[in-house]
This record gives sequence, C-alpha cells and structure tokens, in this order.
Amino acid sequence: MINDKNSQKIVDIIQNWARKHSIWVLAYGTGCGAIEIPPTMTSRYDAERLGVRGAATPRQADVLLVTGYLTTKTLKRVIRVYEQMQDPKFVIGFGSCTINGGMYYDSYNTIKLLDKYLPVDVYINGCMPRPEAVLAGFGKLQEIIAEGRANGAQKYKDNLEWYKANQKKIIPSLLTTDYNW
Ligand code: SF4
Repeated sequence: MINDKNSQKIVDIIQNWARKHSIWVLAYGTGCGAIEIPPTMTSRYDAERLGVRGAATPRQADVLLVTGYLTTKTLKRVIRVYEQMQDPKFVIGFGSCTINGGMYYDSYNTIKLLDKYLPVDVYINGCMPRPEAVLAGFGKLQEIIAEGRANGAQKYKDNLEWYKANQKKIIPSLLTTDYNW
C-alpha cells in the first residue's frame, strides 16, 4: 500500500533522477584552472552528453563551479552569485586552491578553504584538474544528487550564522542583507 511517506519518497527519487541528468553549470572563472572548462564543455570531451551544460545567469544555474583560487575581493562576488541561485543548487570546488589554498597557501589575500564560506558539495583535486577529472567530479555530483546526499544548500541555510561570520571576518565591507533570498 502506498502511503504519503512512500509517495513522497517516490517523488524524491524521480526528482533526483531528473536533476542528476540536467546539470546547468555557472562557471565562475576565478583562477587559472578555468582554462580546462572549454575543452570539457566542447566537442572533445562533450560534457553535455552527460547532461552537463552551461547556464547564462545565476538564476538559471544548478551548479556553481568555482574554478580556482579566490581573492577576498572575488569571494564577495561569488557569494552574491551563489545567493542569487535558486534551490536546488550545488557548489563544486575546482582545483587545489579551493581545498587548501594550493600554491597560494601563504598569500595574504586569498582564501584557503572554500567550504568555510560556501557549502561545497564536491571538490575536484588537481592543479589544474584535467577534463577527465572534471567529468569525474560531475559524475560524483550526479551520484550524490541521485542518492539525495547533495545537501550543501540546506547546510548553508542551517549554518547561515557561521558562514556569515566567516565571510564577514575577511570581507569587512560585506554590507548586503544577510541572505539574498
Ligand atoms: S589549483 Fe592550480 S590551476 Fe587551479 S587556480 Fe590554483 S594554481 Fe591555478
């Protein structure tokens, strides 16, 4: 017998299946790794055959791809972009710089760990990651979306105060409203 709980579960499975196969990506080219995006998205590696395609604006995008190191100035813009995206939304940290600062680990004006400022669902390691690694990263995101485990946006909402405190520590001029719903 199908009760409300079961039917919601079935709806979730169908929605996650559809989301998995329809990933619209907003690539924010913050660092040098962005140069690997054109071959990934065009005919040689053809990410679109996996359901991954580019989005023109934040409001049409499902995935924010942060492609490398982030200066404190750029971080402010990336946060604005992320907050303009509609749910469900996901973040991919692309390249070592988003994981531990990479070769800019001791720079005075770049962040070291993207996950302290925005909720990262998947990291793609490498400096710079090749298109094969990028496709594997998209594959990982698709896998966790299908399993209902890509919950970065919910994590952001649940821990908004913590994220905002971290953001304001390094962007003292962050005078926008606390969230651009
Ligand atoms: S991980 Fe390497 S390729 Fe990517 S932004 Fe950092 S230095 Fe550039």
